[in-house]
Amino acid sequence: MKLGTKGRYAVMAMVDLANCTAMRSKHGPVTLSDIADRQEISLSYLEQLFSKLRKKGLVKSLRGPGGGYMLARGADQLRISDIVMAVDEPLRATRCDPMSGSGCMPDGGRCVTHDLWEELSNHIYLFLNTVTLEDVCAGRMSGSDRRTEAIYLDYNATAPVKPEVSEAIAEALSITGNPSSVHQFGRDARDAVETARDRVAAMIGARPEDIVFTAGGTEANNMALNGARRRRLVISAIEHPSILRAAESIADSTSRGNEKELEVLPVDSLGVVSLQALDQVLGENADDVLVSIMLANNETGVIQPVADIATLAHERGALGHCDAVQAPGRIAFDVAALGVDMLSLSAHKFGGPKGIGALFVAGAFDLEPLIVGGGQERSRRPGTENVAGIVGFGVAAQLAAEDLQRAPHVAAMRDRVEQNLSEIDSDVIIFGAGAERLPNTSCLTMPGVQSEMQVMGLDLAGVAVSAGSACSSGKVEPSHVLRALGLPDGETGCAIRISFGWASRDEEVDKLVRAWRAFYAGLSARFTSGVSQTSGSGTAVGR
Ligand code: PLP
Repeated sequence: MKLGTKGRYAVMAMVDLANCTAMRSKHGPVTLSDIADRQEISLSYLEQLFSKLRKKGLVKSLRGPGGGYMLARGADQLRISDIVMAVDEPLRATRCDPMSGSGCMPDGGRCVTHDLWEELSNHIYLFLNTVTLEDVCAGRMSGSDRRTEAIYLDYNATAPVKPEVSEAIAEALSITGNPSSVHQFGRDARDAVETARDRVAAMIGARPEDIVFTAGGTEANNMALNGARRRRLVISAIEHPSILRAAESIADSTSRGNEKELEVLPVDSLGVVSLQALDQVLGENADDVLVSIMLANNETGVIQPVADIATLAHERGALGHCDAVQAPGRIAFDVAALGVDMLSLSAHKFGGPKGIGALFVAGAFDLEPLIVGGGQERSRRPGTENVAGIVGFGVAAQLAAEDLQRAPHVAAMRDRVEQNLSEIDSDVIIFGAGAERLPNTSCLTMPGVQSEMQVMGLDLAGVAVSAGSACSSGKVEPSHVLRALGLPDGETGCAIRISFGWASRDEEVDKLVRAWRAFYAGLSARFTSGVSQTSGSGTAVGR
């Protein structure tokens, strides 16, 4: 694999031009013969390269005495990938031209390593797309040199811990006692746990004694599904894997003599669970059923009609559980209004620490513990409490009200992103846009560009988002959530999730839009110039 001389010389000459421009107080033109002398490149070769760079709008020329070349825009606006591609240098590590449809083998087929080299070409392109001429001039070559301004737009994966939470955790780590001990040390730890329990309960309008601390949302979900001991489970197709896998595993446990049944409800094209389907599945008498539907989807942000679902479930005698992990600090809700019997929470989605969560269990309801041991958490969750984590969770819960006040501002940022990206390409699809959604979440496509490639490209540009797809056995597949919307894989496979939160700032919208535009424009130029397109592993562009 080598980068050809055209690309290398073009970059060298452009760096020379940028340095000259920077050194001159007056931004006058630079002659090609000066560059040719300094870089030891033949003048006629440079003239050919600069004619192409000018045609692509990267440099401007001034004729006559005192004339020469200038950068067409600031060095920070000129990407190395644009320069290399402007001089027709194929960023390709395979022998064959994927655009021609021919393979790299004599019989026209693809060699076994084809996808490897194609993927390498994509990575070279992604890297060069994130480096500007200014970066090269300033010697900022490594990712970490350029990462200073990286922005985080992946709050649905996890939110940054709030400073007040970190402080409270640091203080709580110095509490010596075990909350179960009767001495003063133990009582101090107990006080810290109970204060946090009060705060978490207040956030969702629950009684403190109905809060069971767990090691996060996954455990809370598993505890709800297993502990309810109902014969039939009804969930939706868009639940988090901690519900889906738990429900499947419970239903699979018939070998242990439990005759369990699992029903998975569909969603409409906006991603909203069908009440009609629930009605049919429940039938007249559902007192052996647990219905578990999430409050807001982690990928699309679409809010589900949980209060209606709980009402219907109760009318038929069923129990209702809700995975509300993505909701705190984003939408106002409480357990009384939702009318659910159980509800899962996780601290790390709204500024608390990872590895701590809770299950709300309505007082009258008897829950079987998931694991066995001591009598902690009213015998519903054994094990010495994670005091520092619980304290951090409590502080985050207390601060969630502030986030709710800022939610309209967060929604405005999200809307601005969607509007700007739709203006760049009107084919951008915004999943769930017509439904009620979390204010912070946008799940949208970059038309024709596979999710994983977008995530890598934006990451290299200092923007952290996540893919609306999952990589399984080397193939990028749309997520089960997007598949459930019933749209073609070609569209769902190009989805990314952008999620804002408590520390997001307006400037981050501008940076995201700039990075998205540059990446997309660069890719379009690459593919329209016929250099490279698809790869068997599915991480390349293909409209
Ligand atoms: N439920 C939903 C909707 C989630 O988004 C997540 C985390 O991504 C979980 C449950 C699991 O929570 P935790 O990471 O605390 O185990």
